[in-house]
Amino acid sequence: MKTIGDFTIESIRNDFPILNQKINGKNLVYFDNAATTQKPTAVINSISDYYNNYNANIHRGIHTLAEKATAEYELTRTCIKDFLNAESNEQIIFTRGVTESINLVARSYGATFLKPNDEVIISTMEHHSNIVPWQMICEEKGAILRIIPINDKGEIIMSEFQNLLSNKTKIVSIVHVSNALGTINPIEEIIEKAHKVGAVVLIDGAQSVSHLEIDVQALDADFFVFSGHKLFCPTGIGVLYGKKEILEKMPPYQGGGEMIKDVSFEKTTYNELPYKFEAGTPNIADTIALRKGIEYLLRIGRKNTAAYENELLLYCTQKLSEYKEITFIGTAEKKVSVCSFIMQGIHPQDIGMILDSEGIAIRTGHHCTQPLMQRFNIPGTARASFAFYNTFEEIDKLYEGIKKVIRMTS
Ligand code: PMP
Repeated sequence: MKTIGDFTIESIRNDFPILNQKINGKNLVYFDNAATTQKPTAVINSISDYYNNYNANIHRGIHTLAEKATAEYELTRTCIKDFLNAESNEQIIFTRGVTESINLVARSYGATFLKPNDEVIISTMEHHSNIVPWQMICEEKGAILRIIPINDKGEIIMSEFQNLLSNKTKIVSIVHVSNALGTINPIEEIIEKAHKVGAVVLIDGAQSVSHLEIDVQALDADFFVFSGHKLFCPTGIGVLYGKKEILEKMPPYQGGGEMIKDVSFEKTTYNELPYKFEAGTPNIADTIALRKGIEYLLRIGRKNTAAYENELLLYCTQKLSEYKEITFIGTAEKKVSVCSFIMQGIHPQDIGMILDSEGIAIRTGHHCTQPLMQRFNIPGTARASFAFYNTFEEIDKLYEGIKKVIRMTS
């Protein structure tokens, strides 16, 4: 029996009740983890526990339920501080996810500090959520968006990045791990180079937090963002980490309750960090559940899950490369568990539909990375992405499923 850390794969799979079901008469094979991950019972139960037992609004209540809800909510902040190795809880801001975190930085930091002809650098492999907010703010401020090219393997060309950097560069915003390719970008080097020209760096950790250990202090990242739902936690909750001195300089992103110190019709003063950026009643239940999901993952151990996921990726790549019809998109030297491919003469959507009839869930299309697809001159890919609850037998089913795809489309 295969084990991951101290746990058998069977016991891990039992922690994810959704996996135990049939789709189209076949056992579900869930290979769409880069889109969203499944949730363990600890996370699901935490949400009902909150609503069953201590639902109350946080921070201002003095009754027992409000105090319990506040304490649990703030414990998650401490958990995230430790998870990212941040210096203090003030640096952890809860948002809806990566998209909102990046919009917050663009609208607050970008709108305040970008001047006409300043430059913002992103890469060719960014998710739309790390493109569009920068396009919007650059247009508004007369700033220029620069794009780092990638090579045919799907790796950032570092010499081109170096060429783009100048004293005009104010912000560099880069994905840590590509959702479409699986590439792990050399963010340490990117951060170091960007800092040399005085730019701040945002790292999109949407795909990296579940696979790699993150130390924001060692990285020296100015901002690091992630979404709970890619980390075995609920949708609708995410994080913005920022360096304290930078967050302090930034104006609030939204106005309302919670983010204020004092309000009068003449003048409002703003709350301290992190509350300055958390206007309104937050997503309390899912914030608390975020901690439960992270604690669950840490019990198994990210080194253990990452090593196992890597074995799955290697096995899948080796099996699928037996098909001459398959071309892999994203063959970087450093990758996590994403296997993106195209098949000659077969539309990715057809691959997805035929595999679904076998109970296999993969993602097809542009993966919210249209400029990346344009770079490879393709409309989209079929993408199988793995988590530690997946198995080698499931990859064998994918292999058989592809046989059916070839049979049915030839
Ligand atoms: N960046 C990357 C690399 C992603 O994979 C995703 C989600 N697919 C996002 C950003 C956006 O995350 P969310 O939709 O959770 O805001």
